[in-house]
Amino acid sequence: MALKFPVAVKELAEKLGISPSEIIKKLLGMKIMATINQALTEDTVRKILEVMGVGLERLPTLEEELTQHHEEPDDPKQLKARPPVVTLMGHVDHGKTSLLDAIRKSKVTESESGGITQHIGAYQVHLPKGWITFLDTPGHEAFTAMRARGAHVTDVVILVVAADDGVMPQTIEAIDHARAAEATIVVALNKIDKPEANPEKVKRQLMEQGLMTEDWGGKTVMVPVSARSGQGIDELLEMMLLEAELLELKANPSRPARGIVIEAELSKGGGPAATVLIQNGSLKVGDIVVAGSHYGRVRAMINDHGQRVQDAAPSMPVEILGLAGVPKAGEPFYVVDDERKARELTQQRQDTQRQAGLSAGRKVMSLEEFQNELKAGKVKELNIIVKTDVQGSVEAIKTSMEKLSTDQIQLKILHAGVGAINESDIMLAVASNAIVVGFHVAQTPEAEVLSKEERVDVRLYEIIYEAVGEIRAAMEGLLEPKMQEIFVGRAKVLQVFKLTKAGSVAGCQVVKGKMIRSAAFRLTRGPEKVFEGKISSLKRFKDDVREVGEGLECGIALQGFNDYQPGDLIEAFEIQQVAQKL
Ligand code: GDP
Repeated sequence: MALKFPVAVKELAEKLGISPSEIIKKLLGMKIMATINQALTEDTVRKILEVMGVGLERLPTLEEELTQHHEEPDDPKQLKARPPVVTLMGHVDHGKTSLLDAIRKSKVTESESGGITQHIGAYQVHLPKGWITFLDTPGHEAFTAMRARGAHVTDVVILVVAADDGVMPQTIEAIDHARAAEATIVVALNKIDKPEANPEKVKRQLMEQGLMTEDWGGKTVMVPVSARSGQGIDELLEMMLLEAELLELKANPSRPARGIVIEAELSKGGGPAATVLIQNGSLKVGDIVVAGSHYGRVRAMINDHGQRVQDAAPSMPVEILGLAGVPKAGEPFYVVDDERKARELTQQRQDTQRQAGLSAGRKVMSLEEFQNELKAGKVKELNIIVKTDVQGSVEAIKTSMEKLSTDQIQLKILHAGVGAINESDIMLAVASNAIVVGFHVAQTPEAEVLSKEERVDVRLYEIIYEAVGEIRAAMEGLLEPKMQEIFVGRAKVLQVFKLTKAGSVAGCQVVKGKMIRSAAFRLTRGPEKVFEGKISSLKRFKDDVREVGEGLECGIALQGFNDYQPGDLIEAFEIQQVAQKL
């Protein structure tokens, strides 16, 4: 049977000529609860069809149909150089925002006719030798958050380091985030107008981070600048263009556009306005686009000077009007040729989002999954982010972990730093499919929420040996899954009933959670554990029941146990296999 995914229960039933309830019954047999409108995965459908002896042929999904022509390789003859896309990063207060403003003022307004630059999330600078596109949101947090959604936009990172302050923790974070994204780093040694500025000292500090200046035979371009006086900015821009030339950035302006949403909001006029960065192709007024879960016909395009334009070329940021809703930053957009299909696809996406909640993001690798995928021959690399309490242990753990790499499996430390595990570590883990290892440190409350949401494997240790041992075990395929006890409920024994036949029964009240017959039970008397095992009967009044909720009274008999006393606590719990979190 030829099917197009996603397929809903109802649709599948119609195709098979049976009633939806029959499918729901089959699904229940597979322990899947489904409603009639629920979309089924390919795996599930395959299983159902297998039982019925029907073969499955998967038709291209709507998305595949719509993006097919974007997958076709470019004709090399049509490829043209495109401007580099640049993000500024660095420690707080080192001058990222000032430098972005200084570049904008020195280049944009003077060269454009009366151009007051519009804030649309990005802007372009025109130089005699070429153009550069700057993203307006500095900092590695925003950069990595975009990357976590799968958006790779930045080619070059300008690392801003204040020459009077030097390399700071967030400088190192920024370097590691840029490296994880495989972006080229150009250093701006800022604030050289200050008397205490010492660019040579900063160069030495950067060398310790593996960035060697060209002056000393290294590969990294470092330019002394001042965002305040404007000194060095021309040189910085020129050097950036040279670096970009080495990257040979190319795109094909003569095909339909695709790219990334940089930012989006409801405009003053009330309609959705989205700034997009074109990554390949050209966007024209009148094109039909899909951006995340919204579609629309491009009604108007506005460039970074607030001017209306008819088309936009690769690496150019434009604000587009005409979408039916507001997409999210980092979502991909592409031009399609069928408005009806575009509407259908975005409707599907909205439905899936509603069903799955918003956190249905990409799945991040846990150490257990790494082990499984390694066994299946699917991965060859484990990415790790390390945080510790003191600098000394950063080095110690880096060295012992790096030693674990073998010819077959590469262990890559994306970032190692001092301090609590923060949100930016978690986003880096999502963006680069990494696990996070902490020594003598905890997660910040925000990071804890985020790591749960994004399902990042965060492992906390007290001893280096333990961490190294566990990762080695995973690499050798020997990591044991960890069992964890999940609290179900607690009941207090109020009264004991002696029954002649069946021994005794404890008359209880559920004080927290609930009692579930299928759970495991433990009876404690003060600090002492008296019994652990199964339940033989759970009664509400005279009836056997499956569960009893909080606040209610019930009769409990534990298997092979008779010695209840008023005041005893009976706790119900379940054992679950979990991704190890120590
Ligand atoms: P950000 O946090 O990295 O975006 O840093 P800001 O751009 O907000 O700059 C932090 C502070 O440093 C502000 O008070 C700026 O005025 C100042 N500043 C930035 N660049 C320079 C510079 O080149 N020279 C001097 N003297 N001060 C600067």
